[in-house]
Amino acid sequence: VNTGSKPDISRVKSAELYEKSKTYFPGGVNSPVRAFKSVYGTPLFIEKGDGCFIWDADGNQFIDFCGSWGPLILGHNNPKIREKVTEVMQNGMSFGAPTALENELAELIIKNNRFVEKIRFTSSGTEAVMSAIRLARGFTGRDKIIKFEGCYHGHSDSLLVKAGSGLVTFGETSSAGVPKSFAEETIVIPLNDTTAIEQAFTQFKDRVAAVIIEGIPANNGLIIQDEEYIKFLRKICTENNSLLIFDEVITGFRVGFEGAAAHYGITPDIVTYGKIIGGGLPVGMYGASAEIMAHISPDGGVYQAGTLSGNPVAMAAGIATLTELNKSSFYKDLNSKSQEFVASIQRFATARNYKFKVFTIGSIFWFAFTDKDKIQSADDIDANSMEKFKIMHRELLNRGIYLGPSGYEVGFVSAAHTKIELEKAKRAIFEALDLVF
Ligand code: PLP
Repeated sequence: VNTGSKPDISRVKSAELYEKSKTYFPGGVNSPVRAFKSVYGTPLFIEKGDGCFIWDADGNQFIDFCGSWGPLILGHNNPKIREKVTEVMQNGMSFGAPTALENELAELIIKNNRFVEKIRFTSSGTEAVMSAIRLARGFTGRDKIIKFEGCYHGHSDSLLVKAGSGLVTFGETSSAGVPKSFAEETIVIPLNDTTAIEQAFTQFKDRVAAVIIEGIPANNGLIIQDEEYIKFLRKICTENNSLLIFDEVITGFRVGFEGAAAHYGITPDIVTYGKIIGGGLPVGMYGASAEIMAHISPDGGVYQAGTLSGNPVAMAAGIATLTELNKSSFYKDLNSKSQEFVASIQRFATARNYKFKVFTIGSIFWFAFTDKDKIQSADDIDANSMEKFKIMHRELLNRGIYLGPSGYEVGFVSAAHTKIELEKAKRAIFEALDLVF
């Protein structure tokens, strides 16, 4: 039953904080996607999180499906992570020297992952991908890289060309400040299009260092690729002696412990992870075969470094997180709970003939305003989708449900969402959909 719009939540304190933050930070934020520029109202300033809930500065409580944009697969303030971090912090917070904790997290990853023999920790996904690109160039002695329209790989120069995430949200998919000569080294092609990549390899024969793709593209909507296409990418890279880089900053440890590479059954040459491996603290990582990684300094000539890389507190959060994820039925339970949740939302929308599709894999979902079952890019959704998303976002906030503030971004279900909260969220989503359509 359509209950009509709910009154807006109070944002008095958030608005006050936002006025202040605007005097300190461009747009009042330290990362543009937080700015609520394409949804209703001022950004919410978050005060605390616990389990699947967050509370803002005005005391509004939300069931959170953003999860800090993906890292919080165990929910907020997970006691096991908190305890491990607190324990490690007693011994100091940074040494700029090796610690046993780095070995511990590396062992958890490498022993349970077919795709990396050696790894290097960084402090963000951006650094991990930027370094993976440099490694591919250093290893092959070539300059060009191929990336896909709408894929976001962090904010390093050569990857801010036709990118997703905040760039697509704000309507300008390439960044000012990237020298033309850098951007020229990046060849951008559409997803799921074999002809386009064949043409690129023909045109730039023997000059392509790497093809980089998000394991499952999730920054411009969720654009799940055909398995045959990913296998084709693997093949064409091998034939051309170019490396295949799987950017698994979102999908790594999200769709399964071995990420999208295992889902598709292919072996990338370099893999990047981030988000989840830091359990909410800043960690990124890239890894490859021992042969490829031998090119990284100090053994090899590809320079890459970081004052806080492998930071003990961040390693502790990663260890506590991956230890939980490595338990036998973790992904089965999480993914089936999530799939049930989205399936019932889809059933509701389909029964009412709403032009609305939930694209989903594992515990990732994307609400798309379209009646197409399969889309090639986020351009395929209805023209007024972002207006519809804006209404939906507002109605959901007013019903205690928090989605990331962009219709191009995906949502995440965490292990902390119980059936009770998912039921509550579903009811709110049904009401919001009735108001949108
Ligand atoms: N790669 C992908 C696929 C991402 O989704 C992101 C961030 O959302 C990044 C790289 C960059 O990671 P970070 O924001 O930690 O620098």
